[in-house]
Amino acid sequence: MNEHLFPLIDRLTAEHRLSLDEYEYLIAHRTPEAAARLAEHAVRARQAIYGKTVYIRGLIEVSNICKNDCLYCGIRRSNPNCQRYRLPPADILACCREGYALGFRTFVLQGGEDGYYTDALLCDLLRRIKAEWPDCAVTLSLGERSRESYAALRDAGADRYLLRHETADAAHYGSLHPSAMSYDNRMRCLRDLKELGYQVGCGFMVGPPGQTAAHLARDLHFVETFQPAMCGIGPFIPQADTPFGHEPAGTLELTCYLLSIIRLIRPNILLPATTALGTIHPEGRELGILAGANVVMPNLSPAAVRKKYLLYDNKASDGAESAQCKEALIQRMSSIGYTIVTDRGDIKL
Ligand code: SAM
Repeated sequence: MNEHLFPLIDRLTAEHRLSLDEYEYLIAHRTPEAAARLAEHAVRARQAIYGKTVYIRGLIEVSNICKNDCLYCGIRRSNPNCQRYRLPPADILACCREGYALGFRTFVLQGGEDGYYTDALLCDLLRRIKAEWPDCAVTLSLGERSRESYAALRDAGADRYLLRHETADAAHYGSLHPSAMSYDNRMRCLRDLKELGYQVGCGFMVGPPGQTAAHLARDLHFVETFQPAMCGIGPFIPQADTPFGHEPAGTLELTCYLLSIIRLIRPNILLPATTALGTIHPEGRELGILAGANVVMPNLSPAAVRKKYLLYDNKASDGAESAQCKEALIQRMSSIGYTIVTDRGDIKL
């Protein structure tokens, strides 16, 4: 047992911050005992705000067409084996209709950076969603756009925006992305979204090539200072047709450890137990909740396209990952003492 870890964890719990060196130490010297202690504190912090409820979001993967070429991503532009699709507005509305009937009150529209989704198309779609289901929140996750575009989408009714920062280290960012993409623009987007009044989500993968404890410390420091409403983290999982296709995957253990730390940095944060976590372990979702997560995002995309949004190999899309199998998810969550609620699931401030 390392005698320095527990005092660090206690201080993080009380003060919601550590220095960069301390974050790095907490990660590099982690032990199973430290993980258990962190999870215990994280669950207590989460329960004080959200009780034993878990928020759900209906995830609609609108398009796997993408102009970017991120080295880790299965829907990257230069993957010739990706079977491309995009959903027109009518299909997205049909997903929302089905999701509403199933009890979803947040719809997440996520996709590659596909020029088909112009501001005009999206604003019209947002207005139609908000007119038909005024009690629902809409989260967009459509990548980097101009400030003007984010402003127009916000005016048309978008409530939240998920844009993982991917890594808070500019050099590491450069090793995960082609030179046409820039760390500075990613950060500009996140700042713009926040200033425009979105509930903003940042996030990162756990275990992509080249990631060190020092990089993760910077990610945690970024969460501490940026103060996002949401943070999406999940293990990196290789996709065979990408340059990182033979790299090892990130681990369940480190992902859960980081979920607990993020909960303690920002006790009210909306923290999903991601599909990637559910993919690397059959009980990944549950273990994520038990580490401090409080959101799950089952898939509401049409069955015909679900297997095509392959960011990584063996991506889970059946059973509790599927919005249509909400009963299975309710069952799984109740087996660990948690309740799924029909609620927009906004951050509690
Ligand atoms: N294009 C939008 C964007 O850039 O934010 C949204 C879609 S993008 C595919 C969503 C997230 O998937 C990325 O932010 C990335 O962290 C994650 N992702 C992509 N490839 C992955 C992989 N091989 N393993 C785990 N997560 C991955």
